[in-house]
Amino acid sequence: MNYPKIREIKEAIVSLFTPAFTSRFPKEPHSPFENFRGKPVVDDSNCVGCETCANVCPPGAIKFFDDKEKKLRLITRDMGLCIFCGQCELHCITGKGVALSDKIFDLSTFDREQLIERQEKELLVCKFCNAVITTREHYKYIHDVLGPKAFSNILNLNMLNERLQLAGRDDTEVEVLDHLKRKDMFNVICPNCLRQTLVKDLI
Ligand code: SF4
Ligand code: SF4
Repeated sequence: MNYPKIREIKEAIVSLFTPAFTSRFPKEPHSPFENFRGKPVVDDSNCVGCETCANVCPPGAIKFFDDKEKKLRLITRDMGLCIFCGQCELHCITGKGVALSDKIFDLSTFDREQLIERQEKELLVCKFCNAVITTREHYKYIHDVLGPKAFSNILNLNMLNERLQLAGRDDTEVEVLDHLKRKDMFNVICPNCLRQTLVKDLI
């Protein structure tokens, strides 16, 4: 017969008189410990819809769908898949788009659909080939970060015009007709089409 060791008896007696580390949640309210990593909370006004967090999310909880017809990017974040690793917060390009809450932990539900959060962002789509450039907010953010250097890219002139409202969108966004011409570089076109307007005729 195996007899308990003295050390084990001592531990059992000590634990009898020590308060429990676990709480009685949900019967009683629970306060998470300091630095607890809870639900990722999105700040839509500081999220530019750049897709970076989706690329670093280990379980693929963040997904992006581009609707070129509606010119909308739909972002979904499935909290049912989230492992609360904090990679989205760590790699967010604005540093403020998403942050893990240290308070929100109770996400249990019978309906998994309720765990999916949705965001929408306006897309910039190439006027000629219909390729997705990025979201309008992402482009503006790049513009802010680069400052005056941003004007080395012609598309930024369109964005500047939008901000200063020197001319309405209808005056600047002229329809691109059958094939690209030099003048179309002043339109909203993707880098590939821009290269064609600049280089094609020279080859
Ligand atoms: S905390 Fe981790 S798992 Fe959850 S959404 Fe962010 S990157 Fe994905
Ligand atoms: S990385 Fe940040 S800014 Fe980009 S989509 Fe994710 S939360 Fe938004």
